Amino acid sequence: MTHAKDTPMVELKGVKKRFGDLEVLKGIDLKVERGKIISIIGPSGSGKSTLLRSINNLEVIDEGSILLDGMQVNRPDLKGLAFERHINHIRQNMGMVFQHFNLFPHLSTLENVTLAPRKLKGMDAKSARELGMELLERVGLADKASVYPSALSGGQKQRVAIARALAMRPKVMLFDEATSALDPELVEEVNQVMKGLAEEHMTMLIVTHEMGFARDVSDWAMFMDGGVVVESNTPDHLFSHPDEERTRNFLRKHL
Ligand code: ADP
Ligand code: MG
Repeated sequence: MTHAKDTPMVELKGVKKRFGDLEVLKGIDLKVERGKIISIIGPSGSGKSTLLRSINNLEVIDEGSILLDGMQVNRPDLKGLAFERHINHIRQNMGMVFQHFNLFPHLSTLENVTLAPRKLKGMDAKSARELGMELLERVGLADKASVYPSALSGGQKQRVAIARALAMRPKVMLFDEATSALDPELVEEVNQVMKGLAEEHMTMLIVTHEMGFARDVSDWAMFMDGGVVVESNTPDHLFSHPDEERTRNFLRKHL
């Protein structure tokens, strides 16, 4: 499915999500144009992960709508196999990278990257290998292709996780605190890979604790607190002279 250039790559309208009595997302509106990078910051528990997980359909939202390149992500009308098929289609178009790498320990680095295109796209072994090596090259790990995850550093594991997420040629990449479990000296190598993707105009939603990186890499920044978007603006504006007191308080503690 192709869409007009001006269709937002990701669009959320009035998204609400609750867990029991706890309303975690209280009506989120958000537009990410294609090729743009948005950083999402906010205190722990503000709903950032739930937001990304909802976009990827790992959580089913209660109200509102989520569109990926004009296609409806949340589909309460679909049941059973039709819903499964829909979810698979959505997930093939979105790569997600988590704080913990979740690599398959029994597969080599290359096999971790090629598993999804082999299984889900039925890609033949030779093409999958070429694709896998291209992606490992891109994250600077071509020399680690045959190594198992246990032999990699945290930063290397996370770079493999990024290569794996890219293997389905997603339209969007979602990063949920991709560097917050890493030793400080390993953060930069992962940030560099993300910056590389930014230069190639990958559309990205980045949840991060790193204000400097967020400011540097993103086109737009959003501050969430208590399940609402308190403020969203250009990174310069949001980080230098935020309009809201809650944003100022948060930044004072985190800059
Ligand atoms: P953040 O990523 O900003 O730290 P989360 O989206 O993880 O925030 O969580 C937002 C709120 O939702 C928290 O209060 C958290 O405890 C709650 N929450 C998240 N996932 C679940 C779940 N599966 N069941 C119940 N509560 C949840
Ligand atoms: Mg989180």
